Amino acid sequence: MGVEGLTLVGARGAPVVEPFAARHLIAGAWQGSADGATFERLSPAHGVLVTRAAKGGAAETEAAIAAARAAFDDGRWSERSGKERATLLLRVADLIDRERERIARIETLEAGKPIAQARAEIEGAADLWRYAAALARTVAGDSHNSLGPDMLGLVLKEPIGVVSIICPWNFPFLIASQKLPFALAAGCAAVVKPSEMTPSTTVILGELLVEAGLPAGVVNIVLGYGQPVGAIMTTDPRVDMVTFTGSTAVGKGIVAAAAPTLKKVSLELGGKNPQVLFPDADLDAAVDAIVFGVYFNAGECCNSGSRIIVHEDIAEAVTERVVALSRKVTFGDPLDEATKVGAIVSPEHRAKIDAYVRGAVAAGAILRLGGAPLEVPGLGGQFYQPTVVAGVTPDMAIAREEVFGPVLSVLTFRTMEEAIALTNAAAYGLSAGVWSANVHTCLEFARRARAGTVWTNSWMDGFAEMPFGGMKESGQGRELGRYGLEEFLEVKTVQMRIGRTRAPWVAPSAAG
Ligand code: NDP
Repeated sequence: MGVEGLTLVGARGAPVVEPFAARHLIAGAWQGSADGATFERLSPAHGVLVTRAAKGGAAETEAAIAAARAAFDDGRWSERSGKERATLLLRVADLIDRERERIARIETLEAGKPIAQARAEIEGAADLWRYAAALARTVAGDSHNSLGPDMLGLVLKEPIGVVSIICPWNFPFLIASQKLPFALAAGCAAVVKPSEMTPSTTVILGELLVEAGLPAGVVNIVLGYGQPVGAIMTTDPRVDMVTFTGSTAVGKGIVAAAAPTLKKVSLELGGKNPQVLFPDADLDAAVDAIVFGVYFNAGECCNSGSRIIVHEDIAEAVTERVVALSRKVTFGDPLDEATKVGAIVSPEHRAKIDAYVRGAVAAGAILRLGGAPLEVPGLGGQFYQPTVVAGVTPDMAIAREEVFGPVLSVLTFRTMEEAIALTNAAAYGLSAGVWSANVHTCLEFARRARAGTVWTNSWMDGFAEMPFGGMKESGQGRELGRYGLEEFLEVKTVQMRIGRTRAPWVAPSAAG
């Protein structure tokens, strides 16, 4: 279905694609599945076959875990110096730069995201490998020299061990790079499972790790589905930690699955992230950030600014301006440099987005723009219209749940208390933003918002140095920054007696 007044980028012709043959990387060897099973990925925008991948089962997953366990336990990576680890991570970053175009194109074809954005993501990922390399040389604990003259205390930081890394489809290469280089910097071994919708770029990363000289077995990649691959990665006793990005429902399941073996679990889950606008805000900047926040990556983004909470005095003016600017956002062929919003990842996901919008309208919300699947000339209908839903009340599902599409909910407030209450009403707590010219307003909001990240007069900036993660049902643990490294480190206490000064517990001369 089309809609009047949108800015569409039609197909530039069917892309010529040589399907990528993706295989598992286990103990340093590229291999298919023992039973020969495969699965295919078609480009959601173009409908062409992009990838034919080996479909892992229990045999491949268990072999990958065994390889990681052996690699960790014999110290082939965990006992290397920080300098050696850093040198290899830097080499990987350079190789990512070299392969940027190839990775970006496959990412675009598999995920449906615009090519310009895919390139920026690959650049950002290379930066994370460089940052993690710097951290690799800073792994250090504490010393306690004030425990008394006969005692010295050491706190050692050690790699946690074998880590299962389970990634989603929305930023496949970037999210893998928010986890893997930090795990490697710490000295861990890993088994990585990309989403079955976006397997190829993780396989290319595996190729680059091999080329960079990472010892066999330190990183293993198993392709396939949550069942059985992901499930085994979260239950096998040889795994010490699971780090997962994806839906809150699967995240909760992983916590339960990991409980019998008490694995550490780090989770980056969903969000229902508000931008709060006070009347003294710079509305030009705020409206642009709202449009960016909701349509970036077609809204398939844990940090999507999927709801705005606007002061009543400016709500109508802001909504009108957001609608007008939304019409100028280029939706269409992800391979076109001009496109800002590409395809929705799957028909099932598009149906889920649509169901949220229909549910809101049925509950009394008002469609100000869009609200239906979108036909792009020459590409079919695997897209969704830019959608603005006003008159949303806090009880509606669209105000509380993660839509993960290009859909903005508009809510209103009168006082700071109301704005904070609406912000914190969601079960999620990933990120939040505040727009005001008054620094006191911004700071009060930042301190009272229950969110892992708060932006003031900005949206979705991210830096390798700054930790990222969620409160409440948005997750546990942090990625990036020093905290991103700490997640993969165990703490060991060493207490050393100096001299033989300890008074005996039992006196040797005691009668008895
Ligand atoms: P999922 O959470 O289902 O998938 C994320 C990853 O977990 C995939 O690799 C998936 O495998 C794997 N997985 C699935 N089930 C299990 C399991 N039982 N044990 C271990 N791993 C498992 O996300 P979806 O792709 O289904 O997306 C659904 C919703 O999740 C979206 O609509 C969105 O709301 C949210 N989401 C949030 C993301 C975020 O960044 N926070 C990212 C992606 C989704 P596979 O899919 O290959 O079977």
